[in-house]
Amino acid sequence: MPLDALTFDETVRCIVRRVERGEPTVQVSMNAAKYVRAAENPALRSFIRRADIVSPDGAGPLLAARRLGLHVPERVPGVDLMMALLAVAATRGWSVFLLGARPEVVERAVTQARRRWPGLAVAGYHHGYFREGEEESAVVERVRASGARMLFVALGTPRQELFLDRWFAHLGVTYAQGVGGGFDVLAG
Ligand code: UDP
Repeated sequence: MPLDALTFDETVRCIVRRVERGEPTVQVSMNAAKYVRAAENPALRSFIRRADIVSPDGAGPLLAARRLGLHVPERVPGVDLMMALLAVAATRGWSVFLLGARPEVVERAVTQARRRWPGLAVAGYHHGYFREGEEESAVVERVRASGARMLFVALGTPRQELFLDRWFAHLGVTYAQGVGGGFDVLAG
């Protein structure tokens, strides 16, 4: 499985550079649980292998890398990465879309984000309890129509990864990241 040997700051800089250039970028945060899921789920495994940036969310990937004699500098927690990118988005005027979590959680996450990073352009948000098929297509259309540049998806694993695998090209965003319980953290 791929893992990018970047520090937290290098990861942020790499993503910012790619977004500046308009390079489509999917980031995945890896932890031990996700490796186990990936071992059992070929579609998830394939998605992770094709991701543009794969970061060590937890300590597990760092330990595994060390066992293999590889150097991976430090953890890049997915939630912290999201926060750092929201801060950048606010200063650069990059619009964001928050997709996932319970309706009241995503709403609170948006309120907190606007409070924390004044000027943040929230192009839209939507909860994560929609069904595959028509409902999912409507959500995809809503993200696309919002014109958001960055998308954070909190549907849990593997749902968020399989959602991005299926729809990234249709969403019109430059950057997408699965954030698991990240909106719950942001909502406080
Ligand atoms: N979630 C969702 N739709 C679903 C299942 C989960 O929006 O169908 C949300 C849930 O409300 C929570 C997040 O996805 O905000 C999952 O968080 P968790 O910490 O379980 O993520 P994981 O550990 O799987 O990355």
